[in-house]
Amino acid sequence: MSFATPTVVISKCLGFAECRYNGDIIQDRFVQQLTPFVRVISVCPEMEIGLGVPRETIRLVKEGEDIRLVQPSTGRDLTEPMKQFSLSFLSSLGDIDGFILKSRSPTCGTKDVKVYAGVEKTPVIGKGVGLFAQAVSGTFSHAAIEEEGRLTNFAIREHFLTKLFTLALFRDIKKERSMQKLVEFHAQHKYLFMAYNQTRLKQLGNIVANRERLPIEQVLAEYEAALYSLFAKRARRNSHINVCQHMMGYFKNELSPQEKTYFLELLEKYREQKLPLSSITSVLKSWVIRYGNEYLLQQRYFEPYPPALVDMSDSAKGKETE
Ligand code: SF4
Repeated sequence: MSFATPTVVISKCLGFAECRYNGDIIQDRFVQQLTPFVRVISVCPEMEIGLGVPRETIRLVKEGEDIRLVQPSTGRDLTEPMKQFSLSFLSSLGDIDGFILKSRSPTCGTKDVKVYAGVEKTPVIGKGVGLFAQAVSGTFSHAAIEEEGRLTNFAIREHFLTKLFTLALFRDIKKERSMQKLVEFHAQHKYLFMAYNQTRLKQLGNIVANRERLPIEQVLAEYEAALYSLFAKRARRNSHINVCQHMMGYFKNELSPQEKTYFLELLEKYREQKLPLSSITSVLKSWVIRYGNEYLLQQRYFEPYPPALVDMSDSAKGKETE
């Protein structure tokens, strides 16, 4: 199976430059694994607005209803320069499939960034979003956006990679402006999309059917919008079970009663979070190969992103929430 090459914007301190406030660089395992498979654009917004390395720390401060980005040691308010840089940088980028941003940074953090009551020695009064990260989700709301810290969680990483590589593949299809390519793309993703959202799958199917004979540009634009909505949330465990049962249905005449019982037991263990999904899909894939089911063989559900990126490791934060 071939894969598209996604374009990913990554915080520069995650392995690309010693640009943290104290001159540090962070070697992130996932970023290192991913880099050979993507086109990387690395950026350090704090350096881009003229802060050097090393530099005095900056923080988010609540001022009335506003959140400001300030440097306590100098009293400088960096809110406007950071907003201006973020907007001009992001609008210069063109097509981007994903972002990996440094967690907890008042610039790059996508959530849980400390917000202080004031510039001086003051307590933390809440959690917010870094200014650059805010601009990213405003400008590229459809993209796969994550922090390096959260990507140690297996389920979050799985969703991120699936979304990233599927969006990049769709972008390639879009460039070709071919109805036939779109039909093939949709057919290959049927079960993956079913796992994500059945309603959207139906909507995408109707768009591809193009009963009104709309021009290809309009079909692609509608398909793209529905695809973005489909990926807005992670696929749920029950939806995966539904997909696997559907696929098992293809082999109902070939499988012995014992094989069927065993498979349903595996599904139950997956439901109870005692088995990874890959244990189930491996069994399914072996049937697909054994019985030569060409339609299922081309399903991206089995391999939505390069297999070399499959990594079963999971952080302590890794309990799946649905
Ligand atoms: S977190 Fe963002 S702003 Fe801070 S050093 Fe890393 S890239 Fe630069």
